[in-house]
Amino acid sequence: MVMTKSIILLSAGLDSLVALGSCKDKYGVDLALTFDYGQKAVKQEISASKKICEYYKIQHKVIVLDWLKEITRTSLVSNENVPSVNLGTKESASLVWVPNRNALFLNIAASFADSFNYDYILFGANKDEAETFPDNTESFRSKISDLFQISTLAKPKVVAPLINFTKNDIVKVAMESNIPLEFVRSCYIGDEKHCGECESCKHLREALLANNGEKYLNILF
Ligand SMILES: [Zn+2]
Repeated sequence: MVMTKSIILLSAGLDSLVALGSCKDKYGVDLALTFDYGQKAVKQEISASKKICEYYKIQHKVIVLDWLKEITRTSLVSNENVPSVNLGTKESASLVWVPNRNALFLNIAASFADSFNYDYILFGANKDEAETFPDNTESFRSKISDLFQISTLAKPKVVAPLINFTKNDIVKVAMESNIPLEFVRSCYIGDEKHCGECESCKHLREALLANNGEKYLNILF
C-alpha cells in the first residue's frame, strides 16, 4: 500500500505523461497541475491533460498565469513563428524559453503541497533537454528540492524520474509499460493535430520511429 501522496506537473507532453504513468503507484500521485500561460497549444494541452487524468483517475487542476505571456517574447506565446530548424541548439532553445518556467511551476506546486501535505512533486525533466534548458538539470532539481525543505512546512521533495532518460528511452518506457501515448500533446502549435515541423514534434517523431511506434505517428500527426 502506498503511504505517500504526490503532485505532478502535467503538460500532456511525452515526458510528463510517461512520468505519471510510470510513477503513479510508486509515489501515490493523486493531483496533476496544468499551467495556462497563454501558450499557443494551451487548449490542446488542457484537453489532453484532462483525458490523461481521467484515464489515471487523479484530480486535475488548471492554473492560469496570464501575466507570464506579457513578460516573455518566446515564440510559444508570441506571434513569432515557432522555430522548425536546428534541433537541440542553444539558439532554437532560446526561442522557446519561458523565463524561469519550471521553478515557477514547481513553486506553485510546493504551495499546494504545503497546504495539503503532499510528500513529493514530480516533473518530467529529461536528459536531452538538460543540455539546452538549465531548469531541466539534476543540479536544478536537487537545489529546488532543497529550497522546499526550508520554504515550506510540508517539505515536499522534488522528483524528476526521467532525468537520466533520452526521448528515445522515454518512448521505450512508455511502450513497455503500456502508457497511452495516444494522449500525448507535445506540439508547440495550437492546431488540432501535431504539426510535425516544430522542434518538439521532430523529437517525438524520431523517438517514436526508433521504437516501432508508427501507429502513434498516424494518430498524433
Ligand atoms: Zn509541432
